[in-house]
Amino acid sequence: MAIYHWIIGFVAFSCLVRVYEASAGDSDPLYRTCIGQCEKTGCVGERCFPHCKFSSDGTSVDGPWYMQEPLYLRWKQWDCQSDCRYHCMLDREKERAEVGQGPVKYHGKWPFLRLYGFQEPVSVAFSALNLAMHFHGWLSFFILLNYKLPLKPDKKPFYDYAGLWNIYGFLSMNSWFWSAVFHSRDVDLTEKLDYSSAVALLGYSLILAIIRSFSLRDEAARVMVAAPLLAFTTTHILYLKNYKMDYGWNMQVCVVVGIAQLLVWSIWAGVTRHPSRWKLWVVVVGGGLAMLLEIFDFPPYNGFFDAHALWHASTIPLTYIWWSFIKDDAEYRTSNLQKKVK
Ligand SMILES: [Zn+2]
Repeated sequence: MAIYHWIIGFVAFSCLVRVYEASAGDSDPLYRTCIGQCEKTGCVGERCFPHCKFSSDGTSVDGPWYMQEPLYLRWKQWDCQSDCRYHCMLDREKERAEVGQGPVKYHGKWPFLRLYGFQEPVSVAFSALNLAMHFHGWLSFFILLNYKLPLKPDKKPFYDYAGLWNIYGFLSMNSWFWSAVFHSRDVDLTEKLDYSSAVALLGYSLILAIIRSFSLRDEAARVMVAAPLLAFTTTHILYLKNYKMDYGWNMQVCVVVGIAQLLVWSIWAGVTRHPSRWKLWVVVVGGGLAMLLEIFDFPPYNGFFDAHALWHASTIPLTYIWWSFIKDDAEYRTSNLQKKVK
């Protein structure tokens, strides 16, 4: 039963990752005073930010006329706010460190150091590596199916889940792309894109888990599984996007969908005679262990390596094993189907 506790922990925390609440850092009155002053004067201590230069009537004071349009102004104000928050945070953290206090979160995030304008450079790098790993996995899967394994007389692969895994590869790469963007710069839009693509991937993975583990091969059965889940996933994304970004509700949905698919995979891994079932176990158990990093959400080491970033690092080898399982499955099914044809 221990494995199920892992699974529940795994999914609950993967969805809890970025729940935004007022954090200890931004409710600190000293921090608030600093922000208020910065937004008025455009300076934190000695440092002043060009984006915070506004004339008294609210229009920008420099740049050609076309750069003084409202859109540009909005962008400037937004950038000013982010510069103020960043430098007030650094100052507060420095003062806290001097009196021996540990780091606290600001606006739901640990105090990260920026690198070339990237907000969380390590998470960006690991998201990009996850993306590369999915691309590598998908590409080698594609080559295996179309060039290495025998083809049917009509030149199509024998493997009857090929199309489904292709879509899975695309959704995974899409999700890691937006994760990298979101960790580069956290604004409303990048956050919504990251959440929606993650939910789309999660919903689709459940469909795939059911279709593969129950060996659903005829169209009618596949549609019966996919239609309600696709409808639900789409409605959920539209709800988050257009109606309300409800973190609590989103978390509950993620937990239920995630537990369902991990249960499906682990039960299947327990009953199947699949030669590569151990790889399924590695991914399910490994994912659970990696989740410990999310449970012990520690602040960034040296301003860069926090628990969330390391968690993104841990999914890189798991992704490799996962695609290796998918490729084994393609070989296994192909040899079975070929025997039937002969
Ligand atoms: Zn992340």
